[in-house]
Amino acid sequence: MTIATEPANGTEIPPVAPSVEALPQLVDSFGRRIHYLRVSVTDRCQFRCFYCRPPGGIDLAEHRELLTLEEITRLVRLFTECGIERVRLTGGEPLLRRNIMPLVAALAALPRLRELSLSTNALMLARYASDLVANGLKRVNISLDSLNPETFREITRGGDLAPVLAGIEAALRAGLHPVKVNMVVMKGINETEIPAMVEFARENGLILRFIETMPIGEPGQDSISRFVPAEVIRETVQRHFGRELRETRPPAHGNGPARYFRIGSSGGEMGIISALSQHFCEGCNRVRLTSRGRLVLCLGREDRVDLKAPLREGMEDEPLRQRIREAVAKKPERHRLDGETPNIPPHRMSALGG
Ligand code: SAM
Ligand code: SF4
Repeated sequence: MTIATEPANGTEIPPVAPSVEALPQLVDSFGRRIHYLRVSVTDRCQFRCFYCRPPGGIDLAEHRELLTLEEITRLVRLFTECGIERVRLTGGEPLLRRNIMPLVAALAALPRLRELSLSTNALMLARYASDLVANGLKRVNISLDSLNPETFREITRGGDLAPVLAGIEAALRAGLHPVKVNMVVMKGINETEIPAMVEFARENGLILRFIETMPIGEPGQDSISRFVPAEVIRETVQRHFGRELRETRPPAHGNGPARYFRIGSSGGEMGIISALSQHFCEGCNRVRLTSRGRLVLCLGREDRVDLKAPLREGMEDEPLRQRIREAVAKKPERHRLDGETPNIPPHRMSALGG
């Protein structure tokens, strides 16, 4: 109830706004607000990018081990009721999950979800982009590590570049916005393509982010020898364009781990995600749900909490929300990808969805 009072001199004091019910927030024990959930919907993929998967593929979950679409929807709803505002569908390759469209539609309709997005290798995007938009998806992230068909084939172990480029085009045509392109930069493989990728992004209206390779997907030594630090990526762009890179603050696109830079005054822009050379843990705002229903609190740690078992045992909503809150409270302070615990299992990205 609001009460309008009238002061002695007769001017009316505007009524006090009714108090808005405070929205719930998920906060970990280090005071970080966790509002972003990455949901892996499948561990399957058509590619075997060598930084992500072994040549022979990974041990795939049996269908009954995967969360069903209804289970994913219920869990995501519970997460949003705890304070998650942004959700990204990932994998494996999320477009391989059967009935992904009804899932997108169900999640897009969740009243507390402010943003739904999807990470894809774009191989099937030409076929699906307009359906995704029709079902409520607004934005997409696409992995593209090379513009050279041979290099692309080498990185993905046999993948074809042409349908991926067609997928990017279809995403733009369908009105997905923004379309972000992520390139994992690797010494001796694709680092010479950094300037070409900046040009490609600028010409096509894409938001480009360079990603430092993380020692997660393959035995550590290979990824370490290919590691290109963020500073080198930055210097390469600066040298090529002969322009200074100025960091945009606040970050130009979203509040994730990427730092964004403007290339001169009119020369486009780019982002860099550096998990290793510049720790981003203090600003971490995310947790991950695997396709088998485990909540992963940190990409570079082993801690995980099973949510599928209680779900299948019939746990009610409030105890499940409580389990989510308690799990998030235990999120570790920082990852250990820089060698302090060298036993991060290989091929972890495939399960966690990046
Ligand atoms: N298949 C989809 C794709 O490729 O976009 C979604 C899943 S993929 C695991 C998600 C992201 O993780 C991709 O951008 C990929 O480049 C990134 N990724 C996988 N392994 C990585 C690694 N070892 N270091 C850095 N990024 C990695
Ligand atoms: Fe598949 Fe994406 Fe991993 Fe490449 S990075 S193997 S496309 S899941």
